[in-house]
Amino acid sequence: MLEETQYYFNQAADVLGLSEKVRRILLTPFRVIKVEIITEDDQGQLMHHLGYRIQHNKVRGPMKGGLRFHPTVNEDHAASLASLMTWKTAVVDLPFGGAKGGINCDPTMMSERALHAVTRKFVEQIKEVIGPTLDIPAPDVNTTPKVMGWIMDEYSKYAGFSPGVVTGKPLHLFGSPGREEATGRGLMIVLQEALKDRGQVLSNMTVAMQGFGNVGSHAARLLAAEGAKIVAVGDHKGGVSRADGLPVGDLIDWVQEHRTVQGFPGGNACAGSDVLTWKADVLIPAALGDVLTKDNAHEVQAKIILEGANGPTTPEANEILQKRNVLIIPDILANAGGVTVSYFEWAQNIQQFRWETEQVQKELSKIMRKAYRDVTELAKEKKVDLRTAAFLLGIRRVGQAALSRVHISEDIQF
Ligand code: NAD
Repeated sequence: MLEETQYYFNQAADVLGLSEKVRRILLTPFRVIKVEIITEDDQGQLMHHLGYRIQHNKVRGPMKGGLRFHPTVNEDHAASLASLMTWKTAVVDLPFGGAKGGINCDPTMMSERALHAVTRKFVEQIKEVIGPTLDIPAPDVNTTPKVMGWIMDEYSKYAGFSPGVVTGKPLHLFGSPGREEATGRGLMIVLQEALKDRGQVLSNMTVAMQGFGNVGSHAARLLAAEGAKIVAVGDHKGGVSRADGLPVGDLIDWVQEHRTVQGFPGGNACAGSDVLTWKADVLIPAALGDVLTKDNAHEVQAKIILEGANGPTTPEANEILQKRNVLIIPDILANAGGVTVSYFEWAQNIQQFRWETEQVQKELSKIMRKAYRDVTELAKEKKVDLRTAAFLLGIRRVGQAALSRVHISEDIQF
């Protein structure tokens, strides 16, 4: 995955004409942290995990990015996602850098007590290098507001009361209204803008999506409320479809109880992976990375791909889809709503002040629309696709900030 992020980075770096040395400087993480986590499970057996935090870039502010609890977490994967965070925070113009991390554990096989112990141990190991002005973790795959609450509590043991050390916390523990749905809402806003440009409206759209967790379920709920039909949803266990639109509220209730869309009685069963090539106007990958590959890109029927997940499209698939004139709205633009409301949460925490939901939604909408316009205008000006334009914008903003912080004799242009 690291190679893929670098591939997209290099496409934009080529347009900017950056030298190999400047590319290396921009791609190398500022700091790489790997820690050993030894705890006990409920039966008193030793558990052994590795925790990672890759701090990619801090030129534009404290580093920001999610924590993932998943068996696939490793240094390369986290480094790739950390670099994406640097460009993403710059695309939406937040005063943050990029980081990412996680623990190579499988929470579906662990009790809550065991997960709690692992989370606390991880924070104990990394407490010196995170903090409200240093590096601020957030939720990602399998990390919930509850986990964020544990992180805040553990860090505050060492540093004193510090709600601003982590975002995505429960609402009653200094979380922000609107954070939980923020990534889904951001996806909807960006899609509305893209449809406007194409003379289309959401209420005529059919949507297929992979993943029905935080990102997928909120996106589905909000899109359905605007009249779009969610015709297929797949997850790690299976899929469900319905040509006239799934009843999204009922599906959310089902998933809350059964932890999967599989078996939902309000639609027809399908294979989880089938949704990627389902007949729909819009495809939203909202689960894991690398799901659109050279093997299935030819079969994708959607005309718009809205990347809810991070890194869902491999470079080979990207090329095939571009040639087929499929509009790809890239992750670092499309799913930036989450980090944007995380920024609002952090800003509220450090000011000890609370915003109303309406204010969060209004500000989110402003930022996402502006980012969409910035990226599309740059794409037109440079005659490149939206992904290359988004990387270009991110790299340019980071590069210009870096040059303004120090004296450099070499003539480097962004
Ligand atoms: P989540 O844990 O809430 O949900 C993940 C979903 O993916 C679940 O429905 C799960 O069943 C499904 N899934 C897992 N493995 C799968 C597989 N092998 N095949 C099909 N489906 C599978 O996670 P989330 O927070 O919704 O994050 C989803 C994606 O969105 C990730 O790529 C994450 O990095 C990205 N993202 C999340 C946020 C956020 O605010 N949560 C923000 C930006 C990007």
